[in-house]
Amino acid sequence: MRILATNDDGINADGLWHLVEAVSEVGEVVVVAPDRDQSGVGTSVSLHQPVRVREIRSPVRGVRCYAVEGTPADSVILALGVLLDDQIDLVVSGINEGANLGSDVLISGTVSAALQGYLLGIPAIALSVGSLENVHFDVAARLAVVMARMIQAEALPWQMLLNINLPNLPLDQIQGIEFTQLGNIAYPSGIKERQHGKRRHFWIVRSKSEWESKEGWEPEEGTDIWALLKDRISITPLHSNLTSPTALSALKRLSNTIFQDLGKPPE
Ligand code: MN
Repeated sequence: MRILATNDDGINADGLWHLVEAVSEVGEVVVVAPDRDQSGVGTSVSLHQPVRVREIRSPVRGVRCYAVEGTPADSVILALGVLLDDQIDLVVSGINEGANLGSDVLISGTVSAALQGYLLGIPAIALSVGSLENVHFDVAARLAVVMARMIQAEALPWQMLLNINLPNLPLDQIQGIEFTQLGNIAYPSGIKERQHGKRRHFWIVRSKSEWESKEGWEPEEGTDIWALLKDRISITPLHSNLTSPTALSALKRLSNTIFQDLGKPPE
């Protein structure tokens, strides 16, 4: 089995190398990852500048390793398009420091890197641990091995993008695994205004998310956020179709009106 490992925290991040070491026991691993922290860049692809790549020495023996001056999506696109000649059987992304829950998957570089593999028909797994400090990578790394072996055994034979989040706990304190839906979560982004000389600029600040401030808030049962708050592992199968079926049927009923209004003279 050939595995592409990537992340969004950058090629020097501990989580990536915990993951690489673990999945090396399942197959041949190649690392292609951003050369710096690219957290939060989402699905961004570099279309307006050249993307440079350097082959670097890997801290894990026998693993080829490339640092990409670009985004997580760039890394996977280059890996699958030009850097690797052979077939890749699995893309693993992570292990991210910090959860990627609910609608946050839309800005997550970790999930977006996996998404690029999925879009090319390769099974893809994104892994995140719900803490930014003293992160326990070991359970996430073991879970990546378990899932990789299932994919190797063709036990999961559909087009697959799994978003996996783990509570930041040792295995004996984790309460189980839930297969979940994306929950409703929105990070309240604060904006700080600053003045530099005559020009003002802004910092978009991400404050602590709702799911981390447990008090007085009940997330919907069966969601990824709910699972993490119960100290359980959350596995959410994603697909790339963002179409809203309810809004689509409501809008279809309005299509004649909208088209007719196009031809109306302005009032
Ligand atoms: Mn990250």
